[in-house]
Amino acid sequence: MNITDDAALTGIFSSSHIEISKSALQSNLTFLRKVVGKDVTICSVVKGNAYGHGTEHFIPLAEACGIRWFAVYSADEALRVHRSSAADSTIMVMGGMSHDQIAWAIEHNITFYVFDLDELTFAIESSRSQNRMARIHLEIETGMNRLGFDETSLAQAADTIRRNSSHVDVIGVCTHFAGAESVANHLRIEHQIKTFETRLQWLRGLSIEPRVRHAASSAATFSYPGTRYDMVRIGIAQYGFWPSIETRMQYVLHQEANGGRHFSRDQLTRVLRWKSHIMNIKDVQAGEFVGYGTSCLTTRMSRVAAVPVGYYHGFNRNLSNVGHVLIRGKRAPVAGVVNMNLMLVDVTDVRGVETGDEVVLIGKQGRGEITVGAFSDLTKLLNYEALVRLSPDIARMVVA
Ligand SMILES: *Cc1c(COP(=O)(O)O)cnc(C)c1O
Repeated sequence: MNITDDAALTGIFSSSHIEISKSALQSNLTFLRKVVGKDVTICSVVKGNAYGHGTEHFIPLAEACGIRWFAVYSADEALRVHRSSAADSTIMVMGGMSHDQIAWAIEHNITFYVFDLDELTFAIESSRSQNRMARIHLEIETGMNRLGFDETSLAQAADTIRRNSSHVDVIGVCTHFAGAESVANHLRIEHQIKTFETRLQWLRGLSIEPRVRHAASSAATFSYPGTRYDMVRIGIAQYGFWPSIETRMQYVLHQEANGGRHFSRDQLTRVLRWKSHIMNIKDVQAGEFVGYGTSCLTTRMSRVAAVPVGYYHGFNRNLSNVGHVLIRGKRAPVAGVVNMNLMLVDVTDVRGVETGDEVVLIGKQGRGEITVGAFSDLTKLLNYEALVRLSPDIARMVVA
């Protein structure tokens, strides 16, 4: 066999695969566009390897679905998006960058958050020496106490910007809420919104009028419609997950209160499916330990299947003896501890099971489904964390 293409090589040799569904993404974006209306831009948040979906596969797919804005956290992520984008999309870096990285961003027309004066000063310097505009988003501290200009430093920043208006283009003004997915944070968020609006107004008074005001992530997009402004930064929802059960319930109740019909069907569809296959099956007598140590004891004549996926790939070790996979549409429990590259599952009750059978670790098979939610409730991980732990080494493929 003579394989030259790197992607094909990974695909053939990968012990499991992640399928990315184009129709699911399309359906989520259609729903989200209906929610925000046509005047609000959807910025697709693709940090963390596109939440585990795989940047190189996800970007072209999102662009085919009409997305033209992408948000990442760091320069290395921006570089990957830049290389994967064929549609001249706008890239936005939400985290910090070194001086070299800022210079690179300016050179490639990449927009980036600025949250302190040193960064701003360097961006202007670099812009002057390259004779290219620095296109920035001014991040405002509104109460999360993470990143952003407070009242005093914002005044200094505004002054610097006004004196250097031929080098710096403030295309965005933005902030981030401290947990819009939970009602418990309601007062804090309301306070943040007020502060943000006050700062926007103050900037307007100085004729700093950004084209793109943005604050909302997925949760705020649903629960605080007033924070959608010109653009929303949608991460988790586009991949088909609600930020929290609360967000979903709030949205459903809000729809009902406004005369909408009751939605029992989930309006978001999971984009990702993770699957592998059975590599071996063994018959084990009753009263035997299975795998490492003594955590799993057979209580009957059992059939145990080996699956070439382990915690190295992102299948959490805490799912040992607790998690499930799908085989022939049936749930099969993980037997014993999850190993680094391998796990065992009890297939005694899966009729007709054979070596080579498809194993679904996340997603649907027949009438069964393993959700990342179930996966992560068991391990006390958020959807977010369970997704980004999917190893970048697993082959991704786009399916219809
Ligand atoms: C990750 C992130 C988002 C997207 O959040 P979701 O809950 O996934 O929609 C938006 N804004 C910032 C600043 C982020 O870091």
